[in-house]
Amino acid sequence: MIQQPTAASKVNEQLAEAYNQHKILIQVECKCGASYIEESAYKRNKWGCKECGEIVFLDSKKGMVDTVKGKAWYMTNRYFVER
Ligand SMILES: [Zn+2]
Repeated sequence: MIQQPTAASKVNEQLAEAYNQHKILIQVECKCGASYIEESAYKRNKWGCKECGEIVFLDSKKGMVDTVKGKAWYMTNRYFVER
């Protein structure tokens, strides 16, 4: 169930993060050569590469990929991602 963010849910979100719950994994593949797994409290459409700072985009068509840590969303800027 999707809820609109409210002040209360924002607090809950932060609490959830504090308790390390609802973590999702993101596989980042950057054109600079960086390839790593990032954890996030929520799914994003954009992410900054930690190596070079370039923006990587969620490839929702590719869906989730298998990583050593489990299923991860695939985010890249190595090719054009349709948004
Ligand atoms: Zn990069």
